[in-house]
Amino acid sequence: MPIKLTFFGAAGGVTGSSYLVQTSRARVLIDFGMFQGRGEKEDMNKVPAALDPLKIDAVVLTHGHLDHCGRLPLLAKAGYRGAIFTTEPTIQLASLVMRDSAHLQEVEAERYNRKHPEKKPSEPIYNAKNVDELIALFKPVNYYQRVEVAPGIRAQFVEAGHMLGSASIRLTVEEGGKTKNIVFSGDIGPKGAPILKDSVGFHQADFVVMESTYGDRDHKPLAETVTEFEGIVKCAVASKGKLLVPVFAIGRTQLLLYLLAQMFRNRTVPKFPIFLDSPMAIEATKIYWEHMNLFDEDFQALSRERPLTQDLNTLKATPTAQDSMALNDQPGPALIMAGAGMCTGGRIMHHLRHNLSKPEACVLIVGYQGEGSLGRRLVDGEKEVTMFGEKIQVKATIHTLGGFSAHAGQTDLMDWFSYLAAAHPRVALTHGEDRGRLPLSKLIQGRYGIKTLLPQLGETIEL
Ligand SMILES: [Zn+2]
Repeated sequence: MPIKLTFFGAAGGVTGSSYLVQTSRARVLIDFGMFQGRGEKEDMNKVPAALDPLKIDAVVLTHGHLDHCGRLPLLAKAGYRGAIFTTEPTIQLASLVMRDSAHLQEVEAERYNRKHPEKKPSEPIYNAKNVDELIALFKPVNYYQRVEVAPGIRAQFVEAGHMLGSASIRLTVEEGGKTKNIVFSGDIGPKGAPILKDSVGFHQADFVVMESTYGDRDHKPLAETVTEFEGIVKCAVASKGKLLVPVFAIGRTQLLLYLLAQMFRNRTVPKFPIFLDSPMAIEATKIYWEHMNLFDEDFQALSRERPLTQDLNTLKATPTAQDSMALNDQPGPALIMAGAGMCTGGRIMHHLRHNLSKPEACVLIVGYQGEGSLGRRLVDGEKEVTMFGEKIQVKATIHTLGGFSAHAGQTDLMDWFSYLAAAHPRVALTHGEDRGRLPLSKLIQGRYGIKTLLPQLGETIEL
């Protein structure tokens, strides 16, 4: 039979990444991510009818973001007991992310059921037990190691430069006496970003499944963004206010800490108090620091000189809610990183409530702000917002830094693909809305004469 590839997520959108490779001997699932967004997206977070978890032989996981690993516990819940292959840091980060997801779902369900006692009780799609069962199935692999994951299917992971442990994966698949190489890009990081090593491109493939999140544009150069960040920090220190940074726990938090450490080391900014006000960010940062060997040459050189933790001796973690509340009495200047990244809940909310009306305060937005989120309203320059039922005048300065993306822009995506282009593979563009994947598709066709596929959710392709 021909090798089959089915798209169970990230087809025409950026969440829910999941693909199934099927031969006459084996079935391997690549990622099983959560769909994120409102309304109907939530109903998509289940095992698709066309996917029988008990017939999967193995799973390979590209990285630990929720939109790539968030549905995995559903496999354990359905009785799957096969292996899940991924890198050691991804095992740690994905475990953290899935545990947090189970916890949040539980809290959400409780809140809903309290509010709507007359309605059918809401239930989490999985619980902490399912997550623990799933975590027990992880098998660590090293970058470049070749491992047989299922009969006739070997996998090789290489650095994707997107988050700690992230990988692009090549599956070498034997079927009917023939061998085909299928490359899954995973999420590809931008070249030259601090901390992480750059992505490594594969050179040989018959079929490529490639992300296209920013297939339509390049980001602002990173050096410019770093300079802007330094300016904002200096300004906040001078005004002696609080600098609030809404963050997601993994990636940008560690990037900002690294940049702050450098500023302190170079004495471009005097040391001042920094608070990591997110239990998950605290855990993620610990995991990052455990894997220095995977960091880029600049980072390693700096750490050899002396540990960055020495530069960051004004950094405090505030794990408990009481610690977090106590920050209200902390005098400025102080930088506070707290979740949620889009100001849709979490500890950042009480900091915003206390500081938005203060002209000496600053809010620094470093990540994407979804439509309708409080973060988006602040970015859009609204002068009054309603929080916790009260109207708050926005007198704080709102800064937006768009250049810290963890995703490659168009040029870096084309560069990643250039190594594969000579082999003239078939290409499917995923993990991108039409805005991202259509321009990239055009570019690949124009430069290499390769017509790309734009798969739909649930579509199966024969290789
Ligand atoms: Zn990602």
